[in-house]
Amino acid sequence: MSRISPLNWPVVRQLRDGDAFARGRSTESRKSATMQGRIVEADRVVKSVCPYCAVGCGQNVYVKDDRVIQIEGDPDSPHSRGRLCPKGAASEQLVNATNRVTEILYRAPRSTEWQRLDRDRALDMVADRFMEARRNGWQDTDDQGRPVRRTMGIAGLGGAAMDNEENYLIKKLFTAAGAIQLENQARI
Ligand code: SF4
Repeated sequence: MSRISPLNWPVVRQLRDGDAFARGRSTESRKSATMQGRIVEADRVVKSVCPYCAVGCGQNVYVKDDRVIQIEGDPDSPHSRGRLCPKGAASEQLVNATNRVTEILYRAPRSTEWQRLDRDRALDMVADRFMEARRNGWQDTDDQGRPVRRTMGIAGLGGAAMDNEENYLIKKLFTAAGAIQLENQARI
């Protein structure tokens, strides 16, 4: 077992280096002195917003060779000021997860198998179901004969990760379609 000279004891180094509160190099190990941050090798930084919740913390996305290598809080963000919660700080794991699903999968009723769909086909299927539910739930009048011209067949429930623009467009779309049941997770 190697012996460490008393001159290298942390408290001695603190006093010797004038680092009374042990916040400087006096408490740095040899190993940590040779380490460098993950962002050092990035060739560019892209500004983004955390996708997880409505706080919308600003993020700096570090990219090397067109691959995201690290995501950190953006000090320029006026409200999060460089901070991320643990979930937001782990966003890089969402981007680079090896088991991340990147294709559209569909399991038909009573089927036990998933099938891959291209985006156009999936959007057509969503639109068909939307229109059918709208039609099936349509009401020209209420039970007292008053005109309402609305559908009770569709409803919107927004997630808190959605931004203002998305919520605006969804409200426009659903109201134009006659839906009156529109809510957001942030209000529940
Ligand atoms: S970092 Fe945390 S608090 Fe900020 S937006 Fe992401 S999930 Fe929300």
